[in-house]
Amino acid sequence: MNNSLYSKAANIIKNSKYLVAFTGAGISVESGIPPFRGENGIWNKYDPKIFDIDYYVSNPQAALELRNVFYDVIAKAKPNKAHIALAELEKMDILKAVITQNIDNLHFLAGNKEVVEFHGNTRYFICMKCGKKYDVARVEITEQPPICEECGGLLKPDFVFFGEPIPSEAYTKAFSYAKRSDVMLVIGTTGIVYPAAMIPTEAKSAGATIIEVNLEPSEYTTQGITDIFLQGKATEVMTNLLAEIKK
Ligand code: NAD
Repeated sequence: MNNSLYSKAANIIKNSKYLVAFTGAGISVESGIPPFRGENGIWNKYDPKIFDIDYYVSNPQAALELRNVFYDVIAKAKPNKAHIALAELEKMDILKAVITQNIDNLHFLAGNKEVVEFHGNTRYFICMKCGKKYDVARVEITEQPPICEECGGLLKPDFVFFGEPIPSEAYTKAFSYAKRSDVMLVIGTTGIVYPAAMIPTEAKSAGATIIEVNLEPSEYTTQGITDIFLQGKATEVMTNLLAEIKK
């Protein structure tokens, strides 16, 4: 651990006026949820088409496939020390909001209140015809497609599939937080999934300092968007950083 880098990052965070966090799949890896890419990534085992909206609509077993890949794992996952550190920073009134690309609910479970779920979530299914929302516990996922009890439309998970737009409220909120932030803490994201990837870039253009946590350099590190790069596992880096902030 590079002590001077940590104390520099901690001082910037302590003196910030509007700290915003931007998180990706990497923050949840130590909670047992695999990321898409990399060594143990989902893409190594499953075809990315299962997250494609056209495939979902035309394949009756698609919901069942998603349950096996994602829902069973997410249901068991608990927030880790990195999620909890962010919740603590919000309680200390240092962190103003979390913008997450994740759909796993772990920021809410950790205790964060202001969370923008840029790619939706796995808590609900939504009817593609009438928009009625169903708690995931109420939806029976079998080899038959789940159907809306009101209108008979197809129910889909309430997260953003490839080929779908970002929900407009989440989009607007995320970019307005990015513009407002004076420091952005970017944790566990490759920075290649668009338009989410533009959020730290937007913050940087508006004058924010970018502090990044990742196991390895990301697009932000290599493109010079990142000002301070804290390399390592999210839980370890965030534990050390929080301790430094509290000093
Ligand atoms: P990604 O899968 O493309 O990349 C994960 C990033 O996390 C990499 O940069 C990797 O180096 C880093 N990482 C891995 N383990 C880490 C650790 N222990 N500590 C710190 N960093 C670590 O993820 P992405 O860029 O977020 O994009 C994938 C998209 O897939 C997201 O937008 C999200 O919607 C979705 N996704 C969500 C979940 C989830 O909800 N937990 C999981 C997988 C994918």
